[in-house]
Amino acid sequence: MKIAIIGAGFAGLSAACYLARSGHEIVVYEKQSIAGGRAGLIERDGYRIDTGPSVLTMIGYLEAAVEAAGSRLSDLVDLIKVDPAYRALYSDGSTPAGAGEIRVYSDQSDMYSEIERTCSRQDADGYVRLATFLANLYETEFPHFISRNFASPFSMTRPVAPLMKLIAMGALGKLDHLIAKYLEDERLRRLFTFQAMYAGLSPLEAMGVYSIIAYMDNIQGVYFPKGGMNAAAVALEMAAESAGVRFEFNSAVARVLRGSGNSGPVKAIELESGGRREVDAIVITSELGAAYRELLAPTAPKRSILNSTYSPSCFLWLIGARSERPSDSTHHNIYFGGRWKDSFDQLLKDGTRMSDPSYLVSIPNVTDPDLAPVGGQIYYVLEPVPNLDGKVDWTYESDRITESLRERLLSSGYLQATSQIEVERRIDPLEWQRMGMERGTPFAASHKFFQSGPFRTQNFDARLPNVFFAGSSTIPGVGVPMVLVSGRLAAERVLGHLGGA
Ligand SMILES: Cc1cc2nc3c(=O)[nH]c(=O)nc-3n(C[C@H](O)[C@H](O)[C@H](O)COP(=O)(O)OP(=O)(O)OC[C@H]3O[C@@H](n4cnc5c(N)ncnc54)[C@H](O)[C@@H]3O)c2cc1C
Repeated sequence: MKIAIIGAGFAGLSAACYLARSGHEIVVYEKQSIAGGRAGLIERDGYRIDTGPSVLTMIGYLEAAVEAAGSRLSDLVDLIKVDPAYRALYSDGSTPAGAGEIRVYSDQSDMYSEIERTCSRQDADGYVRLATFLANLYETEFPHFISRNFASPFSMTRPVAPLMKLIAMGALGKLDHLIAKYLEDERLRRLFTFQAMYAGLSPLEAMGVYSIIAYMDNIQGVYFPKGGMNAAAVALEMAAESAGVRFEFNSAVARVLRGSGNSGPVKAIELESGGRREVDAIVITSELGAAYRELLAPTAPKRSILNSTYSPSCFLWLIGARSERPSDSTHHNIYFGGRWKDSFDQLLKDGTRMSDPSYLVSIPNVTDPDLAPVGGQIYYVLEPVPNLDGKVDWTYESDRITESLRERLLSSGYLQATSQIEVERRIDPLEWQRMGMERGTPFAASHKFFQSGPFRTQNFDARLPNVFFAGSSTIPGVGVPMVLVSGRLAAERVLGHLGGA
């Protein structure tokens, strides 16, 4: 049987790997010229700059996808541990003993020493207890509420024991209250709650269940593929290809064709180039809003898609520069703004830029020097900003935000002069939207409670019996590990529908 996968981002690549050895004929159609999707790449003047994810966690999901296709990840790409995972800097740099900065180590004894040095022994002990709690929470939450297909929202309650355990663990209460039970120091609490932003939520309002994101990076550790994040996508592509999956790049799918009267199963896909391919099942990995609008019309989108609340977006300023970097800089440097609560209110409620923004400066050539020419640095600078539902006029705000980030890089010693910049690209919400991302955010529908787990738009539609979905707008959600899981879940649906060959 013929299975078409639309999109060669991490979700499509994962689905391809999990279907590769099913005996069916698998073809991946990708409108761009390379694999990776959002994990895109700029190659210019000796710089190799990722344009998407920068923090790779839970590499077991990458390994599992590659293994499903019969290959070994370590044969295809080198994954380097990023240690420290983060260097967190706080606007109040005046606190004693260099505590304006905390480094995050996944090795427990290193992290214990760091917390004892920068905060207190009491907090270091609290961190050890928190690490055990989070490991336990992850084991309870992931298999039952994240890494599975759901028949309906009610299936969340079956089996009932894990749900009761989550309640008993306090995971349905507030995230910041949960973390505060273990950590006293406000800066440490931020370090273990800011990850709620990855799910599009304020750390002050998210539920405790989202603390497993902190577990995934602060405790399980952060990795970086040699060659950049795009190299991880290429590894999946190679694994799928060597198991017989075919890739057609520069091949945009224009629409799917159903049987008579626009009902019944999909029979074929039509390419923008005009070609037509017969199919027995398809996996769509573009965002669901775009999928219904552009590919599946006249089938109307499910109500959950029309009513989605979207995550905030980000402004990304990518540069390659012949500069010195600060001697104490690390791969990932997070600058926390001072007005913590106000910032999230501005971003998530008011739809404006944060007045004292938190932002990330990643320097991937700290881990892989081959990404930049000798004497060159890559600065990947990301500031969370409202999506296009907000009140920002991006026709002029992009210049202002670039200017403020430029000043920050100059004053923090990343750049000595603007003239050092050799390669530059900026991506604002309007640009994300042009790239196909709903409401101009690359982070899809947020993970508020009724858009998570069994309540998130599911990966099938009963009106479209042989169409399945993967990617960040369906289950389980946003981020590289999640969309890798989504590819597996979609593959399971396809095989449930077609059976093995
Ligand atoms: C700036 C940024 C920072 C991020 N940071 C992190 C991070 O640090 N850690 C993390 O885990 N995640 C991060 N993410 C999120 C993560 O990158 C995404 O959740 C994930 O890569 C989405 O993968 P996907 O396969 O679902 O979608 P995509 O990567 O968007 O893949 C979909 C693919 O489908 C193709 N396509 C769409 N329509 C068609 C069509 N009609 N025909 C053919 N092809 C089509 C697209 O070209 C694309 O290649 C970040 C994202 C961005 C943009």
